[in-house]
Amino acid sequence: MDITTIGIWGGYPNKNEATSSFLIEQDGFRCLIDCGSGVLSAVQNYTELRELDAVIISHYHPDHVADIGVLQHAAMVGMQLKEWNTPLPIYAHDRDTTGFESLSYKGVTEGRALQVSEPIQLGPWEVSFCETVHPVYCLALKFTSNGKSAVFTADTAWKDELVDFAKGADFIAAESNLYEKYVGIIQGHMSGRQAGELATRAGVKQMVLTHLPQYGDIEEILASAKQTFSGAVEFAEIGKTYRI
Ligand SMILES: [Zn+2]
Repeated sequence: MDITTIGIWGGYPNKNEATSSFLIEQDGFRCLIDCGSGVLSAVQNYTELRELDAVIISHYHPDHVADIGVLQHAAMVGMQLKEWNTPLPIYAHDRDTTGFESLSYKGVTEGRALQVSEPIQLGPWEVSFCETVHPVYCLALKFTSNGKSAVFTADTAWKDELVDFAKGADFIAAESNLYEKYVGIIQGHMSGRQAGELATRAGVKQMVLTHLPQYGDIEEILASAKQTFSGAVEFAEIGKTYRI
């Protein structure tokens, strides 16, 4: 599978960029993972919007759903021009009723509910879920196919269960929104050290760091991750495709 970085920022995008998002592709099937601010613009560097087969959303904070509305406009225009075969399925949990209902729009996009304990078959992948530790209900995602797996932590503070969830993964996109001094002070996110510890304990082969803060020197976060993880680790690089 090929995983392309669309955006890397937590909370809001840096100028001309996008919040944390990835495009995952295999056997011609394309799924967008999270669709926050700036994502709809940025993802068009790598795919025509009408070539998206699915969207999957980890939770309903704006840095993960802000661009759903404009994606729906694109789908509507595409449908009117008969260039787009819709509805586009948007997968997400339905614990937020208003949020979930907003995923279905005029027959051009269709919300599909995810349950944490029920993996789904999505194109070439089995996708499974793990509830994270975040101020709102949020799901980490694991895409598995042909014995390979890629994990996306979404937004979360440290949680032991994530170690089992990510066990043996070939790739993990780990949120690392916190400088070490904010662990225990800012809730719902991990530091670089914690992301590294997760990758080490889970035996992950390759890690990219995402959902980064706009303030401070983010190189400190990468350095912290390297203290606890000796495998391949870097900031998720915008536009780079990771093949696993
Ligand atoms: Zn977020």
